[in-house]
Amino acid sequence: MFVDIAKIHLKAGKGGDGAVSFHREKYVAAGGPDGGDGGKGGDIVFKADSNLSTLADFRYKRKYTAEPGDNGGTSRRTGKSAQNLVISVPIGTLVKDAETGRIIADISDEEEVVIAKGGNGGWGNQHFATSTRQIPRFAKSGELGEELDVTLELKLLADVGLIGFPNVGKSTLVSVVSQAKPKIANYHFTTLTPVLGVVSMGEGSSFVMADIPGLIEGAGEGVGLGHEFLRHVERCRLLLHVLDISGSEGRDPIDDFEKINNELAVFSSELTDRPQIVVGNKCDLTTDEEIERISKYFSEKGYKFFPIMAAIAEGTEALINHIAAELAKLPPIKKFEAEPKPELEKPKNLRTFTIREENEIYYVENCDWLMEVMNNVDPDDYESLQYFERVIRECGIIDALEKAGINEGDTVNILDIEFDFVN
Ligand code: GDP
Ligand code: MG
Repeated sequence: MFVDIAKIHLKAGKGGDGAVSFHREKYVAAGGPDGGDGGKGGDIVFKADSNLSTLADFRYKRKYTAEPGDNGGTSRRTGKSAQNLVISVPIGTLVKDAETGRIIADISDEEEVVIAKGGNGGWGNQHFATSTRQIPRFAKSGELGEELDVTLELKLLADVGLIGFPNVGKSTLVSVVSQAKPKIANYHFTTLTPVLGVVSMGEGSSFVMADIPGLIEGAGEGVGLGHEFLRHVERCRLLLHVLDISGSEGRDPIDDFEKINNELAVFSSELTDRPQIVVGNKCDLTTDEEIERISKYFSEKGYKFFPIMAAIAEGTEALINHIAAELAKLPPIKKFEAEPKPELEKPKNLRTFTIREENEIYYVENCDWLMEVMNNVDPDDYESLQYFERVIRECGIIDALEKAGINEGDTVNILDIEFDFVN
């Protein structure tokens, strides 16, 4: 079964916890803190796989969880980081945030993309030894991995998309110009799933043609089949509008053409501007005068028109040569840009705190918001520490400490982490 949309739940791995431990040796009474850091939790990574053509697998498995990192150990042993969980999807899959609809990534080339980040490991207490606090019983737990619902939406990558009413001969055309063998029959909606055909032009050059199920009136608004398949022509660089020029089903081909274009416009205004080549099929069932009338209509409207008989591949060579020449002038297949994550900047007035002095230690308290910052600070990294200093300066903690009478070298305790005050 062809499935081109799915919703799944992702949970990246939690970081391992930092360890609290103390160096122990014979004859050494109390060693220094040596608890190691936790390992990083596994990321959830998406990757395109050219062997896949539908999202059917995601109907059966909807929850994906990456492994957590190992906890830190004694003797400064860092916990092992978890392996990433790699999810393979068909080429051309859009990954969107299910809640907001934001495009997170377009998986349409070789590049692997991290969609849910694993948590960093927590620090072991080895980091928290200071001159004033030699025995830190403090270690950090690992960060949680990112967790989110995403929708997957397959938008095929094809150069040329076939559009038209059912039964006009779209599948027949694909079958005579490429190796693809879509189902062909004289009734409506024989083609229920999009089929890609590679049209070789010799000398290693080729283009991809997508046969999608026929559109019907109202498809743009979701009536019947069609609407759900319109997304597959969204990326096409060129549209081939196929008409049954003989009106064998009692409709006027010109009328058909206008109706289908109205459907496209309802679906997306961008599709209306996509270049179109008009193909009049089933010429064997009509008169030269009729072909002339229709050809005139389209050339007056500025469209290139090709009368063909798809069933016997008559007129198809001129058509594909023209398509190849047009494609050479057009921009490459559209890749969707990832949309930026909305910034969740915390207003400054929420950065509250209080200061209390006891036994010459200055405690900065009631500042839970700082926890997040501290979780991301690496005490072994100079730049990271500078960042931390900038944050506590900007929110007024440094000023407040000075007001409270702190001196150089006094001990500051923020959320159980102690350090010497240096200004
Ligand atoms: P689709 O629904 O647009 O994909 O149409 P199909 O390719 O399945 O063709 C519908 C019917 O039209 C089939 O019975 C084909 O054999 C027939 N057909 C296709 N091309 C021609 C043609 O050039 N002349 C005639 N007479 N019939 C054709
Ligand atoms: Mg068909």
